[in-house]
Amino acid sequence: MSPSPKRPSRKKKSAARAPLGRGSAKKKVAKKSVGKKGVAKKKSAAKRGSGKKPKNPRPVTEAGTGTGTGAGTGAGTGTGAGAGAGAGAGAGAGPVAAVPIEKIDLHTHILPESWPDLAARYGYGGFVGIEHHVPCRARLMIDGKVFREIEENCWSPEWRIADQDRDGVAVQVLSTVPVMFSYWAEPADALDLSRLLNDHLAGVVAAHPHRFIGLGTVPLQDPDLAIAELERCVRDLGFPGVQIGTHVNAWNLDAPELFPFFARASELGAALFVHPWDMVGREQMPSYFLPWLVGMPAETSRAVCSMIFGAVFDRLPDLRTCFAHGGGAFPGTLGRIEKGWKARPDLCAVRGAGNPRSYLGRFWVDSLVHDHASLRFLLDLFGAEKIALGSDYPFPLGESCPGELIESLAGLDRATRAKLLAQNAEDFLGLARGSRRS
Ligand SMILES: [Zn+2]
Repeated sequence: MSPSPKRPSRKKKSAARAPLGRGSAKKKVAKKSVGKKGVAKKKSAAKRGSGKKPKNPRPVTEAGTGTGTGAGTGAGTGTGAGAGAGAGAGAGAGPVAAVPIEKIDLHTHILPESWPDLAARYGYGGFVGIEHHVPCRARLMIDGKVFREIEENCWSPEWRIADQDRDGVAVQVLSTVPVMFSYWAEPADALDLSRLLNDHLAGVVAAHPHRFIGLGTVPLQDPDLAIAELERCVRDLGFPGVQIGTHVNAWNLDAPELFPFFARASELGAALFVHPWDMVGREQMPSYFLPWLVGMPAETSRAVCSMIFGAVFDRLPDLRTCFAHGGGAFPGTLGRIEKGWKARPDLCAVRGAGNPRSYLGRFWVDSLVHDHASLRFLLDLFGAEKIALGSDYPFPLGESCPGELIESLAGLDRATRAKLLAQNAEDFLGLARGSRRS
């Protein structure tokens, strides 16, 4: 696959690509001539960084850019309207398009190409399996039912790097798909699965150290085991942190049982990326994708509020935490949450938490809100230092071209864009600026 200035279509890419073998992920990493490929890609990324080769040929356009301020864009009319605005595009974003800013995508998911039959391995069901039913695609299965269909970009580092080059993403931060958390399983089994996933992740990062960063997973249902695996992730595998769920079975993130895990993460300087899973109310709203559209934002707000009201941020001021999907429902309902704290301190401030609004700036959120007005609101609320590009690649609810929303938001200067597209992710992960991209 030679680099092309045009964005390749999925179909073309599939056709051009010979189906990869289905050997174990380990075998695949081992047989890579991919290491060399990685170097080549790195060079091309560096080239892009130098501005010699514009990476994204698509016009950078915000809805209403040519006609007025962001307030006029309305909710969700987004890029379609923006394209129509046409003439405004160049004025608002010209300098940005001229010299691309490299991007770090904080929120992407990866799986091994295959893994053992977990039901057979642990002796009970409920785990996720993978079934490669056609070339370049696979089904994630839970107890014989299809959970989700995925493409090769979910497991192939080579495919991902091709997409990164197409989209100008220098580095993807990789984490597992949240359905793999398996917090409901026996702790020893969840530890075993976490180790399997983390070892795979470490292999992918080792093969492409300039293109990928890993966030591990831990068996949070057993905080002692979770701490042990967190330590292994940070010390042995070189991950800057881990991804965790928005709750752990009956525990919210304020549970006293979980505090030692947070305390250890803070001591280790490990970053925590909090991702919704096991969505609240999903049994009561099975239609219309509602668990993803309504449940996930609620989950994320549940996690933010639990950590605020549970005084986790107060007790661990150095803990670095980032919440997915722009903080979910939290930003849009902060006024209500604040009112609750004022009106019912007997319920909200029982652990001594301050005004929820005072915690803005204590944590990061990703940029995955799909709407200019929403992103502008996040900027007003959290500030330009606490929002980091996250696309949810490679899933359909993600941002098709990672960073496009940030790049097309009118009125941002280059320094601010650079923060949103890469530097804030580096700060959250505890990495030196530019350290993983050269
Ligand atoms: Zn995600």
